Amino acid sequence: MLASRAAIIGCGALGSAQAEALARAGVGTLRIIDRDFVETSNLQRQTMFTEHDAKERVPKAIAAANHIGEINSEVRTEPQILDVNHTNIERLIDQCDVVLDGTDNFATRYLINDACIKHQVNWIYGAAVGSYGVSMTIRPARTPCLRCVFEEAPPAASAPTCDTAGVIMPIINLVAAVQVTEALKLLTGQLAQLHNSLMQFDVWRNEWRKINPGSPSPDCATCGLRRFETLEPVTEDFAAILCGRNAVQISPTRPTQVDFGALAERLQGAGDVKFNDYLLRFRAGDYELTIFQDARSIIRGTDEISTARSLYAKYIGN
Ligand SMILES: [Zn+2]
Repeated sequence: MLASRAAIIGCGALGSAQAEALARAGVGTLRIIDRDFVETSNLQRQTMFTEHDAKERVPKAIAAANHIGEINSEVRTEPQILDVNHTNIERLIDQCDVVLDGTDNFATRYLINDACIKHQVNWIYGAAVGSYGVSMTIRPARTPCLRCVFEEAPPAASAPTCDTAGVIMPIINLVAAVQVTEALKLLTGQLAQLHNSLMQFDVWRNEWRKINPGSPSPDCATCGLRRFETLEPVTEDFAAILCGRNAVQISPTRPTQVDFGALAERLQGAGDVKFNDYLLRFRAGDYELTIFQDARSIIRGTDEISTARSLYAKYIGN
């Protein structure tokens, strides 16, 4: 266990519960990847974080690493403040014995699936919304992959999300507990104990189900035909996604390193600027831009991708 390395992709509710459990179990190295910072509204379900983290707007990857250092100082942490995308996913799972899904969206899960099937890394899918949760353990070439089971992601805005429907904390802990237990079975080689199913639970309706996912499909684009579409470069200069709660995230497709001191100086006359080692916050009128070291930005105050792109171009540029 001490020689093992696990990657946790997304350190919100599920990811922070996984990180804490794996640290207490004594997994040697935890690579924790998250793009966001702690906010007060997270604390209801993201049990690793504190009011202090929210007040200081500490990036979640750093906050998790700090708390793990207090829980079990023998665990090595590799925090990464990053938006996971096709430019970095293969590097992020490199040298990992298992990858745990702590994300909240299918786009990132297909990226994880493509990279893990390509490089033969075991990964553990998990999701929770409302009082419902689901998990499946994916072992390349031995079990069906995510795309064997869900060929396409559900269309955008078709399903409830944690921002629209909320989520209760106990289902988070249940899904994370199943994921972590599967990870421990994999890391200790106790493969006969794996649950080998699409496991579903609803803690409010008292429903538990194990669905047999069958065998890997020879027609599956990912594990059958080995086409890893999500790992291909995209043609746009910037990827923009709605993050709910009146916010849009803009990411440059070519990662870069931002000099916060220089950027703060440029923005000084245009509004209120503050920065620390990890992020810069800029407020102008009704908008607030949070810029991370890799030039990714979360723009609050709009639901319009075009408005967000133009604010990005206006204040950050490319
Ligand atoms: Zn497949």
